[in-house]
Amino acid sequence: MKATQIQFNGVGQMEYVERELPPLKENQLLIKVETCGLCTWERYIYEGLESMPFPFVGGHEIAGRVAEKGKGVSANFKEGMPVAVAKWLRCNECEPCRRGYDNFCEANFAASNREYSGPAGFADYLICNSYEAYPFNPDAPIHFASLAEPVACATRALNRMVLVPGDTVVVMGAGFMGILFMSASRSTLRLTLSREASSSSFGSLKGFPSLPFS
Ligand SMILES: [Zn+2]
Ligand SMILES: [Zn+2]
Repeated sequence: MKATQIQFNGVGQMEYVERELPPLKENQLLIKVETCGLCTWERYIYEGLESMPFPFVGGHEIAGRVAEKGKGVSANFKEGMPVAVAKWLRCNECEPCRRGYDNFCEANFAASNREYSGPAGFADYLICNSYEAYPFNPDAPIHFASLAEPVACATRALNRMVLVPGDTVVVMGAGFMGILFMSASRSTLRLTLSREASSSSFGSLKGFPSLPFS
């Protein structure tokens, strides 16, 4: 089974690469990638504003379907079912994992013996551990599952803030994440839009008041 990946070979250098995928191990899934978000993180790496070892295969906002199941994968996963994939190894045993900071898993950082770095969502197929895949609503458009990671970032950040209904939230910057923050917070909180939001086309988004900045 071959996968075609988009690989960054250095700053500003990108190419398609074909790689043979290894046979599925226990508790692994083969995922047919349907959509993958392009996050600022990958753009920064491409532009040399953030460093990652090259070659690098980005793509961490991954949505796809289960194409094949390895041995031991629970019956909750069925072939063809849509999933959001958080492609991030975690051992669940090291200190960061036990403290809930599995994005800093020591085993993940130690696993640098691959041919490339990165989560490898920019591909037509990828292999993930079953714990990295989250079953997604089959009635929703599959590309919505690519929003799981950015929405999780926004809701987690809001959860960490001590906010109560009636508080005013200032969202600086009305890019994709800014709009997610506004969406995630507006159900309970009064919103003040940033200057950027009110003065651009975002200000006319349905449900968001356009504030009179001058
Ligand atoms: Zn992201
Ligand atoms: Zn760990």
